[in-house]
Amino acid sequence: MPNIAVFIEQRAGQIKQVAWQMLSEARHLVDAHGGEVWGVHWHAADCDVSTTAGRYGAHKVVTATAPEFERYDSELWTQALAQFVQQHKPDLLLIGSTAMGKDLAPRLAARLRTACISDAVGLSWEDGLVVKRPVYAGKCFAHVTARSVCPVVGIRPNAFALRETGDTAAAVVFKPVLDASRARASVTAVETAAAGKAALTEAEIVVSGGRGIKGPENYRLIEDLAGALGAAAGASRAIVDAGWVDYSHQVGQTGKTVAPNLYVACGISGAIQHLAGMSSSKCIVAINKDPAAPIFKVADYGIAGDLFAVLPALTEAVREFKR
Ligand SMILES: Cc1cc2nc3c(=O)[nH]c(=O)nc-3n(C[C@H](O)[C@H](O)[C@H](O)COP(=O)(O)OP(=O)(O)OC[C@H]3O[C@@H](n4cnc5c(N)ncnc54)[C@H](O)[C@@H]3O)c2cc1C
Repeated sequence: MPNIAVFIEQRAGQIKQVAWQMLSEARHLVDAHGGEVWGVHWHAADCDVSTTAGRYGAHKVVTATAPEFERYDSELWTQALAQFVQQHKPDLLLIGSTAMGKDLAPRLAARLRTACISDAVGLSWEDGLVVKRPVYAGKCFAHVTARSVCPVVGIRPNAFALRETGDTAAAVVFKPVLDASRARASVTAVETAAAGKAALTEAEIVVSGGRGIKGPENYRLIEDLAGALGAAAGASRAIVDAGWVDYSHQVGQTGKTVAPNLYVACGISGAIQHLAGMSSSKCIVAINKDPAAPIFKVADYGIAGDLFAVLPALTEAVREFKR
């Protein structure tokens, strides 16, 4: 009978989509096994997320408002979440595997002396929690159980579908005691990506380019298709290392992990390190002139062809369809 707490992450006034996905999946679990779903939300100024959280399955939303929550701070967020867990005693805490979540989850688990299971893509309840997570760069999945009380589980963005229950969540005020003097580091500035571009890890569609694009000037072919599809533009490490695009676009083991509904790999061979970052995408389309390229082994649809012919035609077809 789990009571599942879900951390609702907010950055610059925007709630991360993974929060609603985690609430949806948590509600799906408790509907089958009993228990409740609790959203947990920190913010600097009054902001009511309980209506939306209720729509995605939360029974209640525990909120704390403090000026310290204006900007992410590992120590203060950890203090507040640890106090929440100690007072409300959920059976499980879910945190999105975002940049913030990857920093917060292990620190919090260590503070609570509980288990931390990172990068989960599946949850089930069989006499206790079972977490599915990719291992060996996505080559297989491990099913992990936690023996400690209230494990902290990091959830990969886009691993779960959104489900609306149409309920409303009760709002509960929480007042953590924050001790800023314990912080050993502080964020002095935040640089955001160019406005108007979809964030790679949040995007429902990602179009990525690899060395097959031949040169930096041709990355516009990737951006054109991405623009037509309303997608984010990604890249293999080969073209990031070559300086053709910025590292923020890199998908893979040493770049970002994405799990969009649609991933279009253009001129990418499909090295294991690239697959590690995108193989849990729901539908993979590969465009490569080499029919024996390894990327076709993970692709749902493959176009064996020259991307310089395929991409402009595909982009035009998408634009035409949208018109
Ligand atoms: C420790 C480590 C970490 C790494 N981390 C990452 C990572 O995070 N992300 C990552 O991507 N890589 C990573 N790599 C690198 C990885 O091993 C590969 O070298 C890299 O992914 C290759 O990039 P690519 O597919 O763009 O290039 P290539 O392997 O050179 O493939 C280019 C592909 O383009 C095709 N092509 C060429 N011309 C055309 C055309 N006109 N039309 C269509 N197709 C064409 C070719 O057939 C080929 O398959 C890592 C490597 C190591 C050792």
